[in-house]
Amino acid sequence: MTILGIDLGTTNSAMAYVKNGQPEMIVNSRGERTTPSVFQKNINGELVVGSVAKNQYSSLPEQTVLEIKRKMGTDEKITVGETSFTPEQISAHFLKYLKQAAEDFLGEKITEAVITVPAYFSDAQRKATKIAGEIAGLKVERILNEPTAAAIAYGLDHPDSEKNIIVYDLGGGTFDISVVRLDKNLIEVKASAGDNHLGGMDLDRLLVDWVAEQFAEQYDVPLFSFGEASEITQRHARVKLEAENVKKSLSSELSATFNLPFLAVYEGKPISLDYTITRAEFEDIVRPLLEETLVHVDKAIHDAKLAPDAIDDIILIGGATRIPLVQQLVEAKFERMAKKDINPDEAVALGAAIQGAMKEDSLSEESSLMVIDVCPYTLGTDVLRIVDGKRQSGYFDILIRRNEPLPVTAKKIYNTVNDNQTTIDIGVYQGDDEDARVNDDLRITETPLIVDEIPENAAGKEKVEIMFRYDVNGLIQIEATVLSTGRTISQVLDAQRGIMSARQVKEAKLELFDDWEKSKLASEMKGVIRRAKKVRRNAEPQQAVQIEEAIQQLEYAIQETDVELVKTREEALLDLLMEIIE
Ligand code: AMP
Repeated sequence: MTILGIDLGTTNSAMAYVKNGQPEMIVNSRGERTTPSVFQKNINGELVVGSVAKNQYSSLPEQTVLEIKRKMGTDEKITVGETSFTPEQISAHFLKYLKQAAEDFLGEKITEAVITVPAYFSDAQRKATKIAGEIAGLKVERILNEPTAAAIAYGLDHPDSEKNIIVYDLGGGTFDISVVRLDKNLIEVKASAGDNHLGGMDLDRLLVDWVAEQFAEQYDVPLFSFGEASEITQRHARVKLEAENVKKSLSSELSATFNLPFLAVYEGKPISLDYTITRAEFEDIVRPLLEETLVHVDKAIHDAKLAPDAIDDIILIGGATRIPLVQQLVEAKFERMAKKDINPDEAVALGAAIQGAMKEDSLSEESSLMVIDVCPYTLGTDVLRIVDGKRQSGYFDILIRRNEPLPVTAKKIYNTVNDNQTTIDIGVYQGDDEDARVNDDLRITETPLIVDEIPENAAGKEKVEIMFRYDVNGLIQIEATVLSTGRTISQVLDAQRGIMSARQVKEAKLELFDDWEKSKLASEMKGVIRRAKKVRRNAEPQQAVQIEEAIQQLEYAIQETDVELVKTREEALLDLLMEIIE
């Protein structure tokens, strides 16, 4: 049984598996090694994923979802046409497509996967990713950090190496940096840092702003301010896609042109855009953003207790590392060339497949690997302290320091602070500030995490042991025990805001299955409906009404996902058409 390795990217995704002990990429039904992470649901209920959906984005922007990874772990709803989805549901549709593509490629059912996420993804973002997998019908064997996955692929390719490497991962929506020690078969992440909101799409946005500025200068009107709302959305979609193309061209060319014929109609006149930007101009625009990545690099190197000259190899992954300025900045920092023998689009999926094979024990003896990852965040709770004789709450008390090897468990004992205090509300924060409220509150739950039934006693007499556990998937578990009674409260942080409940996941799984069945029926019936509409156009009025009715009946059966009824009504429609044509 194959465990699929999935690199679930912001803009592109990829899949791999292990064959005869070696990882190999899986191509989708269009023969592509990567699939754009784009989902579309058209008005017929047909679901479209990947390049086809991306190509139709500028004509169907309201039916299309891009960059869903940025919204994972939030409670934002995404509207596609008439339907509202959670980020997990959109991601699940996408995973379902990948699962199907892998099954077609391998000729076997796939039920398990290793899915990668940015090292800097939070607990809620990881949980949302795992849930998306479950909705798509995949048991998520492991949530693996993307740079770690790339280091695994690199490690397998370079056995017997003893070196320190950095994995600099600039993808479509996120940036990660990991410092990794390769020691023969041991792959040990020393430190990770990053930014979940910095990637190629942010560079595209800067280019869209640049185009808007050129336009405003030329026409004295903001580019996205005139026309119907739907026209503006379409216009924006076209400029955005073109910005990505221009950005990519500038990786190999010294200048590139925004060529957007008939982009808009202004004061009755059609407007086409034709603006050329040089690589130097592009670099001026994006440099501040790219320089931000170096701050994270410094942090990771510092945390790993290494000097820049102790780094032996630089591994660049993520499509945006093809930008020459990115390479220059990183190479200048380490005063050495980056390795070019790793495919930036494929390393993560290959590493995920190897991780899956490790569970299955399907790697050969000599290529067996051991991987140690780290917790990228500092985690703790909030406590009350006496400062200058006054009680002050909200102090951040650390339980797990960032870059501790995984899995990590930390325990601390806290006292009650009031006489007869019977409850303690446990805060869970992530960050490095001593003021807990400045850090990220991970426990934004509808039901707070409360230890209750503490026996009434004098202040400070009752003690509660709090345990934080950060597992290999990057998921946090909290446990609290009242020492005098042994009462224990345990919680995986699963009641977080925006995270779907078990019941919602079950429902979403059924809905998703139904949506895909409907989509299959709709696309199977597309040809016959098109033919019927053609015949209707030239038919006598009475026959036209009959055809229209038969089409509607068929469409209703598709909506109901009733396969038998669809077949019957398809036959009825075909019979009618035959009669009319004869
Ligand atoms: P990934 O998620 O790793 O596939 O990275 C995708 C990001 O890399 C997107 O923002 C792409 O636009 C960007 N990208 C892909 N190829 C290039 C290229 N040749 N030059 C610049 N950016 C690229």
